[in-house]
This record gives sequence, C-alpha cells and structure tokens, in this order.
Amino acid sequence: MNDRDSKKAAELLHLRGQRLAKGDPIALPLTLASMYHLPGDPAGHPGYGRSDNPTWETAEHAISHLEGAPALLFPSGMGAISAVFLALLKAGDRVLLPSDGYYATRVFAERFLKGLGIGIDTRPTRHFEIGGFEGYRMVFVETPSNPGLETCDLARVAASVRAAGGISVVDNTTMTPFGQRPLDLGADIVVAADTKAPGGHSDLLSGHVASKDDLTLNALRDWRRLSGAIPGPFEAWLLHRSLETLEMRFDRMCTTAGILAERLADHGAVAGLRYPGLVADPAYAVAARQMARFGFLIGVTLKSETAAERFIDGCPLLRPATSFGGVHSSAERRARWGDAVDPGFVRLSVGCEPLDELWRAIDMALRAAAG
Ligand SMILES: *Cc1c(COP(=O)(O)O)cnc(C)c1O
Repeated sequence: MNDRDSKKAAELLHLRGQRLAKGDPIALPLTLASMYHLPGDPAGHPGYGRSDNPTWETAEHAISHLEGAPALLFPSGMGAISAVFLALLKAGDRVLLPSDGYYATRVFAERFLKGLGIGIDTRPTRHFEIGGFEGYRMVFVETPSNPGLETCDLARVAASVRAAGGISVVDNTTMTPFGQRPLDLGADIVVAADTKAPGGHSDLLSGHVASKDDLTLNALRDWRRLSGAIPGPFEAWLLHRSLETLEMRFDRMCTTAGILAERLADHGAVAGLRYPGLVADPAYAVAARQMARFGFLIGVTLKSETAAERFIDGCPLLRPATSFGGVHSSAERRARWGDAVDPGFVRLSVGCEPLDELWRAIDMALRAAAG
C-alpha cells in the first residue's frame, strides 16, 4: 500500500474519535429516528428522518474520507447509479455506457431512461475510447468491468469527456477507494456498490456517490430527499463498522488473488484466465498505470459448463452465490444470468481465508471437476 492509502486507512479509524466529548461511546451509536426535537427555528438542526440521520452522516464522512470528496449514501449500488442518471440527465441528452459492465445499469437505462427521451449508446470497455465522446452529456465507465475484468484508461477517458463538454461517471465497485481513485484521475463522479467489499460480510446492500462538484452533490442530495430513496440507518451503521476493516480485508483479498491467479494460469484444468495483475493479461498495462491494487476478482474459464458447475459445487471453501467481495470466497458461472461470457466462465471472488487452505481446496475441486 502506498503512503497515502496507509494514512487514509489509519485516519479512518479515528475520524469519529477526534470529535468525541467526554463520556461519549467510542463506537458509533445507531440512531433510529424519523422525528427530532425541533422547537422554534429549524435552521441548522436535524429536521426529519428523510433528510437527516447522524448514522448515515458518519458513514458518509468515512466514505468521503476514503474518496477524497464529499459523498452521499444510497440504499444500494443501483440506488446510487439510478440517482446519478435521474438527477443529472434530461430529455434530449445522450449517455454512453459500457456494453460489458454490470447488467442492471444497462437494463435500467434501456427500460427507464429511453422513455424519458434520453439517448443510449454502448461500447465495450476494452475499446472504450474508439469513436470519441462528442455529443454525450454523460459517459459512464466501469473498469475493471464486472464480470469480464476489462479495463480502459480512466485519466484519458475523463480528459476527453471533459474536452467534449460531458461529465464522466465511474463505477468503481470492483476496486473500492483502496484499489483505485477515479476522482484523482480526473473523473467527475464516482459511484460504487458498497454491498460488495466495503460491506464485505454479505449482509447488507448499500451504495454511494462521490464528487468534488458542489452542484452535482446538491442535485443528488435533493434527489435523495425528494424521491425518498434514502439509506436505512441500520445498514449505514453496519457499513460504517465494515469500513473500519476494509483496508485489512481488501489487502488480504488482493494479495491472495494475485497468488491464486498465477497458480491458476498454470493449472491443467483451466482453459482461460483473466486477472488484471498478470503481466500477460490484456488489461495489465492500463491496470498497472491506474490501479493501486489488482483486485480480488479472477475470471476463470473451465472447459465446459459442467466442469464449471462441478468446480463451484465441489469446493468446500467457495460459496456458490451471486455478488462478490465478502470475507468468504464465492463463485458463480455468469452465463447463468445471460452475461456475454463463455458458458465455462466462473467469476471467482477471493475472500479472507488463509491462502494455503484456499489454494488446496480450489486445486482439489478443479482436479475433481476436470476428472
Ligand atoms: C453489484 C454491482 C452494482 C449494483 O449494486 P447493488 O448494491 O446490488 O444495487 C453496480 N455496479 C457494479 C459493478 C456491481 O458489481
């Protein structure tokens, strides 16, 4: 980890502590409130539970510390992404999306933005710059993409979008702020599903938006308050607790994933492998330039759908589950949801199990699945 991330990780654990009064609990209290005691002039005081909650605000403070920009919490990753679309786009605008990114973002745009008179185009992440960005009000990118782990050059895309008069939005879910900071690379807005590694224990859904632009943040805050799509205080509390161990979990997960990827690349049962940290991977050059870590997701292609299912079901240290980023390693065959990937393609999310145990279990299950 670089010095800057170390500093952020250490400071994160003391953000709340710096502001405590004598006798306050060190841990964050969970505040469940729709009403606040509010006699007289309400200005400057928490007013109502749809606009104010001290538990979300503390979680937002932690996220904004990591992102290096003001942040707003949403009830899920899609809550954050749909808020960005609906609060910032209007009829006649065009938006560019990745054709190989998280499917719900594309489905949402097709299903709900088109009908509002917003034009939609898609492009593969790997060739995202081809065609330029002229005429787009918003350019949305996801790198490394879920599930294919393709990358595009964030600094170049953000600069070209800005030169063409648009705004760039980066879905940073696969990386977290400890793996990549799109705002520092010039992006206007970052969105992420905190459901994944930031939550990390597979027990909550959450998402956030961060931006250094006040007008953007204000529009999104108004959107959240007026649409009513607000985070629950309990989820915010759980997320805040999880963020305190994010750096440690993410570090373990990425280190283990890097070693597993090298071993898997040489495994007889593996037909194809994608991991941005392997020098031979097509994503490596861009990844090495803009990512602090290479992540905890590995794309493993086995020889058939049957081999892939047998591998997933036969490995005692893999949970067969959709979603990723939990402490427990998990895996799924993405073609089962219709993603445009090989039927034997498995998205492997590396968790926090000790490396040697995990490798033994994976190796054994791969051999059994191939045999
Ligand atoms: C999971 C995911 C989302 C959506 O998050 P939810 O919390 O499930 O709404 C968005 N983008 C990416 C890249 C994801 O992996």
